[in-house]
Amino acid sequence: MTSDPGLHMTPEEFRRAGYAAVDWVARYLEEIERFPVLSRVEPGEIRARLPAEPPASGEPWDAIFGDLDDVIIPGITHWQAPGFFGYFPANASPPAVLGDLVSSGLGVQGMLWATSPACTELETHVLDWMVGLLGLPRRFASNGAGGGVIQDTASSATLCALLAAREQASGYATNAEGVDRRFTAYTSVHAHSSVEKAVAVAGIGRGNLRLIECDDVFAMRPDRLEAAIREDAAAGRVPCFVSATVGTTSSSAVDPVPAIAEICARHGLWLHVDAAYAGSAAVCPEFRWINDGLERADSYCCNPHKWLLTNFDCDCFYVADRASLIQTLSVLPEYLRNQATESGAVFDYRDWHVPLGRRFRALKLWFVIRHYGIAGLQRHIRHHVELAQAFTGWVATDGDFELMAPAPLSLVCFRHRGDDAFNERLLQEVNATGKVFLTHTKLNGRFVLRLAVGGTYTERRHVELAWRLLRETAAALAPTG
Ligand code: PLP
Repeated sequence: MTSDPGLHMTPEEFRRAGYAAVDWVARYLEEIERFPVLSRVEPGEIRARLPAEPPASGEPWDAIFGDLDDVIIPGITHWQAPGFFGYFPANASPPAVLGDLVSSGLGVQGMLWATSPACTELETHVLDWMVGLLGLPRRFASNGAGGGVIQDTASSATLCALLAAREQASGYATNAEGVDRRFTAYTSVHAHSSVEKAVAVAGIGRGNLRLIECDDVFAMRPDRLEAAIREDAAAGRVPCFVSATVGTTSSSAVDPVPAIAEICARHGLWLHVDAAYAGSAAVCPEFRWINDGLERADSYCCNPHKWLLTNFDCDCFYVADRASLIQTLSVLPEYLRNQATESGAVFDYRDWHVPLGRRFRALKLWFVIRHYGIAGLQRHIRHHVELAQAFTGWVATDGDFELMAPAPLSLVCFRHRGDDAFNERLLQEVNATGKVFLTHTKLNGRFVLRLAVGGTYTERRHVELAWRLLRETAAALAPTG
């Protein structure tokens, strides 16, 4: 660190700036309720505040930190604000922040076991812990044929699962020869758009993704899935992949995984289960029903970066048969050859996802699990579910609002009894207060408001405030619809 003190920070300078950075983040979190949850800047406004050219010589840290407040904060949508109820949460926590800090400080690149054995072995170990923590089938643990890896996102997990499924269905020929037949993939109309992106990227083609109809609670209909697979097979196409969702983005619907798994087994399709949001709930035994059928899934993913206090990015991706994933994604150029890889005794995680390089993400998950313990993580999930259930009760007993989907966990889908335009206006006005932020979806063609409880610092008073703002704003807008 002192090789060129005129150029680099000395340890003492780093310490001082580092403490100031931690102070800045701590203060930000303390004062977060001062800011409007949704950023109010116009497009281009942040760039206009930045100098056109980079500085010719280095600047003092006071100036750099000052710009965080003056330039950056106005353009922040405050995902960690307790009034953030949009999309799904991306809840962060101090232990995870510290994990990322240490990961950055170590600066290791864990593409191979040999490039930092602890980076690989901690990841394998923590992902095995997660198998127990979430009550996942033991087949996903690394001591058998399966195993887990941290991906950046659920989108990448789904892509990797699909690539392995495609390879397996072609007898591992498509990587070498290209896609020479019409593979087909299946998911529900309510699945996340990452499935559509994956089929495009994997060369299967969007036109070969079948969006299966859902039942009246927005879960995939197994009879329609089976019919679609049969129709494609009869037409000479090659059905290869099903992505079932546990906790859909629109409404947190849970596809009937046991029945879907039965169909996949009968027709020889790869079953991936996307539990990006809802999967974290399984830390509580009373929510483990969401894992029903997983024992027959080929792959599974869940995002601690959504609902398990682990800063973005952290997706836990599991496969039942790691050999098929590794065979799909492994390429070994001469410059990466090493004894450990050749011994076959280690995992090289570069073979488990698309990028070669990878940072030490397991640290933050490890810190989170150790700081909170199982009991703390359960408390965190139960708290949010309780708050969402309270909100559900208020909506259900209010004559002006109605629930639009079952709310088994922490997402509530509801609307005012006015028309779509009214609900859209209501959402805009409530968000314009800056005190809360909700997003919307469409269910059965109707505009629906979503309240996703999941902030690290969200308390009952914040959910009560959201409800009060919704009711008062609706009354002020005097619906005619
Ligand atoms: N799957 C589901 C069910 C989701 O809700 C989401 C995001 O909300 C995703 C996948 C995509 O998540 P990621 O940003 O990790 O790719």
